[in-house]
Amino acid sequence: MPTLVPEEQRRFALEVVRRLRGAGFEAYWAGGCVRDQLIGRTPVDYDVATDAEPERIRALFGRRRTLAIGAAFGVISVIGPKPAGLVEVTTFRRDAAYSDGRHPDSVSFSTAAEDASRRDFTINGMFFDPIGQQVIDFVGGQKDLAARVVRAIGNARDRFAEDKLRMLRAVRFTAAFDFTLDEEARRAVAEMAAEIHAVSPERIAVEMRRLLADRSRAVGVRLLLETGLAAELLPEIVPRNDAGRRRFDETEKLLSQLGDGRGFPAALAALLAPWIDSVGATKVCRRWRLSNDERNRVCWLVKHRDALLKAAEMPWSKLQPLLVAEGIDDLLMLTAAATPAGTEAAAHCRRLLAQPPEVFDPPPLLTGDDLLAHGIPAGPRYKILLQRVRDAQLDRTLHTKEEALAMVEKIVGSG
Ligand code: ATP
Ligand code: MG
Repeated sequence: MPTLVPEEQRRFALEVVRRLRGAGFEAYWAGGCVRDQLIGRTPVDYDVATDAEPERIRALFGRRRTLAIGAAFGVISVIGPKPAGLVEVTTFRRDAAYSDGRHPDSVSFSTAAEDASRRDFTINGMFFDPIGQQVIDFVGGQKDLAARVVRAIGNARDRFAEDKLRMLRAVRFTAAFDFTLDEEARRAVAEMAAEIHAVSPERIAVEMRRLLADRSRAVGVRLLLETGLAAELLPEIVPRNDAGRRRFDETEKLLSQLGDGRGFPAALAALLAPWIDSVGATKVCRRWRLSNDERNRVCWLVKHRDALLKAAEMPWSKLQPLLVAEGIDDLLMLTAAATPAGTEAAAHCRRLLAQPPEVFDPPPLLTGDDLLAHGIPAGPRYKILLQRVRDAQLDRTLHTKEEALAMVEKIVGSG
């Protein structure tokens, strides 16, 4: 994906509204981008809401510059110049009943006021007219933004019953903006948390990813616990006694020390490591249908979470493979965040990592081809032999290919 330029995104989102207005339609910026701009954050993307129906939107912008991926729900993506990306243009709609606890059975086109009232939270339910520079607020979003409250539009219980994912969104937004969750919404989540399983594991994972990748992750996880969602989604980390509660406090501290720019696997590993081993972590990753790469990374981190603490005393042949592993940056960060001893151990490892490559990761003295050329029949022994040689090389008890071959001969001969 090309890099998006915020000013270009904004310019294009304005242009889309101009075109719709010029053709006689009503059109506003809507939802998250309005909220973000009002709290002084740069919107990640812009959504436009309009009374134009999907076919009219496509006709106006041209079929080649539009994608009708969500046309059944009245969503048309309009493709802008590269640095501007896409703007999703959505026809004002009203949702019919939700019988699966996640999706409306159907939608019908409607007015701006009705479109606002089908949105999830008041802070997400506002429109903005970028031409007249006016907020259009049918749901009291400005008041709640000022009071820093996440409040459902209408009755919280009803809104969460329609779409159970909103419970998790409530927690995520509350944490991300450092707001409070309105009391009624909080009670509703506490009562209905068990219904979160109506949401697909993949969708839960999307939401957990956003919650954990954000720097507010510690607050988010605490809220998951307090609302009862953690008991449903991650019973592994729910304290059952005082020792557990202390462990939760420590987990929270670890999460808050990860800082910015740490990805989801590192954050998930930090969340799980105090509670379960890598087998348990595998189960969590499978539960959320994470990719193999992510699962492997999370499990590797959980498995080695304490490995670097003894770095100063470890044989180089044990330490070096960890330091050359792909996930080392995350592991160092987890180690450094854990304890003062961890901070020191991580600093020690960073110094080792800064050595020149021929010292730090020298080419192997022997390869499989060398063993073959030396007349040793290929087989499962190869891996073990090469590992032995590599360990000895790293620990500097072997220095040349000849010494390595002599060692192999000794092992093979004596086996
Ligand atoms: P983010 O910054 O996480 O993207 P967002 O508010 O833009 O936050 P989106 O998921 O992109 O969230 O959705 C855009 C808008 O669509 C929301 O602001 C909200 O008005 C509406 N919306 C999204 N998901 C739901 C939902 N499950 N129920 C009701 N309204 C929703
Ligand atoms: Mg959004």
